[in-house]
Amino acid sequence: MPKMIFIANWKMNLGLKETVILIKQLLGGLKKIKNNLEIVICPSFTVLSEASKLLKKGNIKLGSQDVFWEEKGAYTGNISPKMLKEIGCEYVIIGHSERRQYLGETDEMAHQKIKAAIKEGLIPILCVGETFEERQEGQKDYIIIKQVTKALEGISLSRGQKIIIAYEPVWVIGSGQAVKPEEAEYTNQIIKQSLIDLYPRDIVEQNFRIIYGGSVDSSVIKSFVERSVIDGVLVGGASLKTKDFIKMINKIHPVK
Ligand code: PEP
Repeated sequence: MPKMIFIANWKMNLGLKETVILIKQLLGGLKKIKNNLEIVICPSFTVLSEASKLLKKGNIKLGSQDVFWEEKGAYTGNISPKMLKEIGCEYVIIGHSERRQYLGETDEMAHQKIKAAIKEGLIPILCVGETFEERQEGQKDYIIIKQVTKALEGISLSRGQKIIIAYEPVWVIGSGQAVKPEEAEYTNQIIKQSLIDLYPRDIVEQNFRIIYGGSVDSSVIKSFVERSVIDGVLVGGASLKTKDFIKMINKIHPVK
């Protein structure tokens, strides 16, 4: 059984001072986390270095919210996988719907980013999910299969290379209303099938974790991670306050 994972995406919400305070409070409040739960925080680029220093003491891991696919060169404003690795990142969110929506990111870009991240030993967190319109058109499952397949097709994986796929229905993110856990379970099963169509079964079982994200908070978190193909959660808004963060962890640790 894969280790359950809790990933916090702090988006563009916290500056340096606020990030430092939140991390210190989390380290204080989450000292007793056992081996069966992995916690990852993804702050803004500008605070990663400071976050990395603080996290050396505890059991929380560091991720970034994006990465570029080239190693170095004339790519103004971009950050390479090596740069992230150098300052202590282990994870990287790729293809988040907000980047797809506001910056025109495509499945092809997600593919390039995953390839580059893996080459540098980072663990990609690929976000997939349908918009409300796609759902209304009856395209949901097709969109999910397409996003997973286009992002991963042709990328070979070593036995130890971990990848996380997060099902995040776009219309639910930040809405305060998560989908029903049974729907997330159904969609994660579709993601798992897409992976089985791309990789040998043992690689899918050992390398991948499939999680859910979208308006998860302490009132619903347990109902998601109790489901059989939901190996964790990606949380935005509800992970920005110490009390809520710790409350969520307490609800799920240890449930499996
Ligand atoms: C997200 O943006 O990845 C997310 C899950 O946000 P929220 O929890 O706020 O819906």
